[in-house]
Amino acid sequence: MKRFLPVALFVVLVAATLSAQAPQGLDLATIGRIRTEAIQRSQAVDHVWWLSEVHAPRATGTPAFQQASEWAMKRFTEWGLQNAHQERFPFGQGWTIERFSAHMVAPHAQVLVGQPRWNSPSTTGAVLSEVVHVKATSDAELAKYKGQLRGKIVVMQPVRAVRMLDGRIILRMGEKEWDEAMHTPIAAAGAGGGPSAAQRAAQVFQESVQQFLVSEGAAALLERGSNSDETPGGSDLSWMQQRVDGGTIFPTNGGARDPKAPAQVPSATLAVEHYNRIVRLIERGQPVRMEVNIQTKFHPETDPAGNAINTIAEIPGTDLANEVVMLGAHLDSYPYAGGATDNATGSAAMMEAVRVIQALGLRPRRTIRVALWAAEEQGLLGSRAYVQRHFYDAATGTVKPEHRNLAAYFNLDNGTGRILGVWGQGNLGAITLLEQWGDAVKDLGFKAVSPRSVTSTDHVPFDQAGLPGFQFIQERLEYQSRTHHSSMDTFDHVQREDLTQQGAVAAVFAWYAANWPEKLPRKAMPARAGTGQ
Ligand SMILES: [Zn+2]
Repeated sequence: MKRFLPVALFVVLVAATLSAQAPQGLDLATIGRIRTEAIQRSQAVDHVWWLSEVHAPRATGTPAFQQASEWAMKRFTEWGLQNAHQERFPFGQGWTIERFSAHMVAPHAQVLVGQPRWNSPSTTGAVLSEVVHVKATSDAELAKYKGQLRGKIVVMQPVRAVRMLDGRIILRMGEKEWDEAMHTPIAAAGAGGGPSAAQRAAQVFQESVQQFLVSEGAAALLERGSNSDETPGGSDLSWMQQRVDGGTIFPTNGGARDPKAPAQVPSATLAVEHYNRIVRLIERGQPVRMEVNIQTKFHPETDPAGNAINTIAEIPGTDLANEVVMLGAHLDSYPYAGGATDNATGSAAMMEAVRVIQALGLRPRRTIRVALWAAEEQGLLGSRAYVQRHFYDAATGTVKPEHRNLAAYFNLDNGTGRILGVWGQGNLGAITLLEQWGDAVKDLGFKAVSPRSVTSTDHVPFDQAGLPGFQFIQERLEYQSRTHHSSMDTFDHVQREDLTQQGAVAAVFAWYAANWPEKLPRKAMPARAGTGQ
């Protein structure tokens, strides 16, 4: 806490930047009280602990996710928020890991680090078997292994080189990175056109691999995951993509949440160093035997309204109560750890923002609504479902009455690092206003609003529906390199002061948006809003 400036000094600092006649409810004394409550009496770390260690992992459609949602509703109600409720939508089956172990037993015993891949089925108990390296990149090559794989443990990928950990693991935005963040990129020709022909062909081949392994009766498939050397791109900023090995693993999908999807072979991702040893031994003619036990559980979708749950609560507004400011973050996580930085931290900060305002007994002019989304990890499904239900139905092109009343949506989903600004989504009309609001938290590290657009999280459905939806800019720290979607997204990686700052900044922005004389300006409604991702 020592790094935060005292409130009295803050008032002096920002008094010059805000007009003497503040709009109703936006006097500096009120902003100062919000900051003091958020900084000096923050409960954000406690929220993260409950979410990342008790109700975890929070994969959508699982009992832990349901408990997390109920826990959040209970907190909202205890704090005095109104209308705490769940909104369900169809998802498919949930999935949890029950047990996993993997050992090399010959040539000598070694405990192997790994995790079942998401939606993998179970092995038939612990399987003790020979490992076969299937070298195939086409159906014809695959066919050569016919009749040889029954009961076998299969590996298919070649060895991948392991880099020394000599690059940056902790990503802080320096001058160069900040400069990139503050400028709208000129899109390269042909960018963003979906998967390439090669990617689609690879996908089709993976499906036939699964079909082949299932029909041949293979016991399990093991892979070694990928890092950013193998899968470059896919990030909004050039320097953000970075995954490191060293025992942290980033498993991929090993099945489907649709119970009617074709069966897949049980599969797991091993730490690359352990995987490489297995493949090198086989390539040099040394037989490898392993014991692997993958026990997972599918949770059928039993509720007719769906097993995915958005969790919603409100601080009712006063004279503009029918207008709404929304704060959101996704509550769901990957199934491998506590989902601490993705996204217990974002959820906790948004919860903290409403707790602070409510605890001070402040009455906003507009309603402040907090939303904790489900199924962000499957393609922003929770926020999409909400936007479709309340604001804009892309399928029919229907703009709903609530559309006009949304004053702003703010999202948090980039880990534990502090808030440095707002991605402006090309909404030039809103940027000046957001900059002005940010002045009240400049001493806490808020720097600027970027005209850039970013993707891949829950502000996108709002943005695509012509609503003023924004994601905060955050320091990434270990997010890309270590915690995001990994086996190590744990409470230990949460940075307390940064998380406290997130709650304070979110509360101040919510308060401004809820009391500013006008709603945030909007971009033009997209011609065909809401389509694509
Ligand atoms: Zn996330």
